[in-house]
Amino acid sequence: MAVQIKGFIENSLIEWEGMISSIVFLSGCNFRCSYCHSPHLVNPTEDLETIPMEAVIGYLKKKRGWVDGVVVSGGEPTLHSGLKELLKELKALGLKVKLDTNGTNPALLEELIEDGLLDCIAMDIKAPLEDENYRKVAGTACSVHDLRRSVRMIIESGLEHEFRTTVCPSYLGEKEIEDIARTLRGAKRYVLQSFRPTNCLDPSMLEVTAYPPDKLRHFRKVAGAHVEGCRIRGEMEPAGS
Ligand code: SF4
Repeated sequence: MAVQIKGFIENSLIEWEGMISSIVFLSGCNFRCSYCHSPHLVNPTEDLETIPMEAVIGYLKKKRGWVDGVVVSGGEPTLHSGLKELLKELKALGLKVKLDTNGTNPALLEELIEDGLLDCIAMDIKAPLEDENYRKVAGTACSVHDLRRSVRMIIESGLEHEFRTTVCPSYLGEKEIEDIARTLRGAKRYVLQSFRPTNCLDPSMLEVTAYPPDKLRHFRKVAGAHVEGCRIRGEMEPAGS
């Protein structure tokens, strides 16, 4: 699909650490995670306005020297055939680019890395990388082989990167977090983010209670034995980690 920009945040200080970034949201996703907080992007309605790429580029031109980089998020950006064109436009403005992805398209990821179109990659890891586990959380079957390929490619790219897992009690406990962390050996940063029972794709998830902070901290310790830079979203990095 051609690039469908369905959301644009002009400035953020938190989306890309240490940077003033703009955020572009592309619609559509090949997953159906029950806890997804972007149902409007996963299943966009016809009245959700498309923002012309020219409008975004025009804004970024005006803000040259102020905005450091752009986060391209979704949905799943790699579903868009126009993604490469968008990234080239951003790079032509001298901006740094971070891509958020679910990792299902390693072939395109490889092309974007080789073409020097990415400065940072953030990949969601939904579950231990086994077919059945992943299908349960992603809400659809996918190629775990492709996901593993994306993980290795990102780690070996030398680019700034982050892997992140939404820790939802319906799917993940200590064993699963440890399994995921083992897969991420060699990664520079692994972020655990608490499940939040708000605005979920599957309304039944609103009944699920998130893990308490102490439990998340325990998971961080468990994962931290296998992968460096393990932290909890929203908390300060622990000393010595
Ligand atoms: S949370 Fe899942 S369904 Fe939602 S955008 Fe991310 S990968 Fe797609």
